[in-house]
Amino acid sequence: MKDPEQFKANIKRNISDGAPSNKFIWPRYLTKSMEDGTFGYLMEVKPDSFDSFVDILNTYKLKVDPLTGRAVREPVRFTDLKAMVTACINIANAFRQLHRAGKSYQDLNDGGFFINTDTGAVLVVDCDNIAPDGANFGIGGKPGYMAPEIVRGIAKPDTQTDKYSLAVVLFKLLFRGDPMEGEKVVKDVCLTEAAELKHYGSEALFVYDPNDASNRPVRGIHDNVIKFWRIYPDYIKDAFIKSFTEGLTDPNKRIIENEWQQLFMRLRTEIIACTCGRTNFTSMFEKQDSTTYRCPKCGMTFATLGFSNKEYRMPLYIGCKFYECDIEQNSDDFIGVAGELVENKLKPGVLGIRNSSEKVWNVKMPDNQFYKVDPGKGCPIWPGLEIDFGDVTAKI
Ligand SMILES: [Zn+2]
Repeated sequence: MKDPEQFKANIKRNISDGAPSNKFIWPRYLTKSMEDGTFGYLMEVKPDSFDSFVDILNTYKLKVDPLTGRAVREPVRFTDLKAMVTACINIANAFRQLHRAGKSYQDLNDGGFFINTDTGAVLVVDCDNIAPDGANFGIGGKPGYMAPEIVRGIAKPDTQTDKYSLAVVLFKLLFRGDPMEGEKVVKDVCLTEAAELKHYGSEALFVYDPNDASNRPVRGIHDNVIKFWRIYPDYIKDAFIKSFTEGLTDPNKRIIENEWQQLFMRLRTEIIACTCGRTNFTSMFEKQDSTTYRCPKCGMTFATLGFSNKEYRMPLYIGCKFYECDIEQNSDDFIGVAGELVENKLKPGVLGIRNSSEKVWNVKMPDNQFYKVDPGKGCPIWPGLEIDFGDVTAKI
């Protein structure tokens, strides 16, 4: 450590500032310094329901079997697609909150997060390098996650380099591979430090750079990336292309956190869970007409709901939800459920939307008249459905 006293003063300042939100396992108390100058700090214990990002990428964790004393593999997987996309929203949102507080993380990598694989809730850990933007206490970062300008030694970690690392983290979570590791890197049999400097620094090349195909993923080695690149819709792929082409050399071209958040909120909305078991993004369903999707496996069709504040439509299936941020103009609440598509308990097969929000909705019913729908109550789904939420309206 370059300057332990400065490092300690920074932690002390972070303790008194407090965490940017409850997504951070933040330093709480400093210990007294020992005679040799060493010190420690206390923080909350990570809840058991959260798994490390490393284990998620590995798809398993090691647990000691109490009977045999041997380490056994336990699978670590997201419960569903929605939980994974929600994790992406939460990661982007956590870094948005941190950067808004005028601080940067500086050492963003796979060891910095814990995720609840059922809900997509995120906890940011390892918060001791967090410092006011522009300040740096000697940390560089982890290879593969560091921005090229840090690898090349021409910049120090800040919010701009955090943005690069954020794109890497999101890429790894979605595509289960490294954005810069393709054919060009594989040809370098031994990844020496010099080669690493080249592939992640001066000659970094995105595996799906539209203008340079020399570093494409290699079949048999990068199968995950090849497989998942086909599945995600263009607006997600375009964001990564921008981050890892223009954004490689120009930090101002990197996707900002709020943009990621909006993109992943759209991606979460565009998931369809079909009754036949097929769960995927709308881009992987057939488009029957401009407002209807069709399941390629079983033929089931899905109507969609269009919100006046969104340029995309929400497919309607049992259990699908929309959130406070969907029905209120400047809301950032992407967790609070505002409405949910449910099956009528007394009349199976009859579908309706339940008002899970605290607002009274104005809804156009099948007789073409508008009626008030109170919180907790529902309205039937029909071809002319219109819901007036106040700020925002939605139509089938
Ligand atoms: Zn189906």
